[in-house]
Amino acid sequence: MPVKQLKVELLASTPDALALIYAAFRQCYHAGFVADMWPKLLSGKIDRKKQADFVSKVLESGHDSPIEHASFTFAVEGISRACSHQIVRHRIASYSQQSQRYVDGSDMDFILPPAIARIPEAKARFEAFMDEVGQAYRDLKGILETHGRKEKSIEDARFVLPQAAETKIVITMNCRALLHFFHLRCCRRAQWEIRALAEAMLAICKAELPAIFATAGAKCESLGFCPESPRFSCGRAKVRSKDVQEFIENEINPKEI
Ligand SMILES: Cc1cc2nc3c(=O)[nH]c(=O)nc-3n(C[C@H](O)[C@H](O)[C@H](O)COP(=O)(O)OP(=O)(O)OC[C@H]3O[C@@H](n4cnc5c(N)ncnc54)[C@H](O)[C@@H]3O)c2cc1C
Repeated sequence: MPVKQLKVELLASTPDALALIYAAFRQCYHAGFVADMWPKLLSGKIDRKKQADFVSKVLESGHDSPIEHASFTFAVEGISRACSHQIVRHRIASYSQQSQRYVDGSDMDFILPPAIARIPEAKARFEAFMDEVGQAYRDLKGILETHGRKEKSIEDARFVLPQAAETKIVITMNCRALLHFFHLRCCRRAQWEIRALAEAMLAICKAELPAIFATAGAKCESLGFCPESPRFSCGRAKVRSKDVQEFIENEINPKEI
């Protein structure tokens, strides 16, 4: 069971995404039929900078549903099941994840948390446990097979696999869902593994569609302040006004319940 590293690849994205988003916004405020301006958008007669400026300004006003028309599809490998469980909590997205029912986990890779990797004693214990788990999986698979469970044996043997088990997943999110995902998961308070994934996805989005993603990231970057209480804030951005802070401190995050 070797260690696996995070890899994020862009499989596909909506063609002419900026023009499409611009067209969707324009249809909201334009008396004519936006399909009539579509050829001009594609040919560049309405230049890209004008499209980008218009989109950025309307987005700032909080009108963000037109950006749902464009989406990105990523292939991700080298994440743990612990991480993928957090990802799939984001419901405004589509997922296709490698199945532990159908893919044999006898030689499954695993994710080694950096904090464990830095301490030789912790790393040795972690790796020994991964070996034990791998052996238990193979033993159970063999026992189940000899008792007639056949190809279904891995469906039950997988119950011993750890949260560290490596998984692969295809993720599609539209731009609005992505901005929300980055708000939450690029935050320094987000767990390290999903944060690394979010940062890798953000770098791709920024390169592909800067008009939407140039200023994307943790929520403090677009809000200009940190919505967390002082106790939870990382300190990168200033927290909210004192009365809101006090309310959060006393009512939402009481020290004693
Ligand atoms: C730092 C951090 C710690 C966390 N800790 C925990 C934890 O301890 N336990 C836990 O269970 N989860 C935890 N989560 C997960 C969190 O509660 C969310 O499930 C996850 O971040 C997905 O966010 P979302 O629901 O906003 O996203 P999505 O599901 O993608 O939804 C996007 C947006 O659509 C809207 N929406 C979607 N579905 C509905 C609905 N049914 N009704 C109304 N509006 C909807 C909401 O506006 C939502 O923000 C944590 C997340 C973070 C970032």
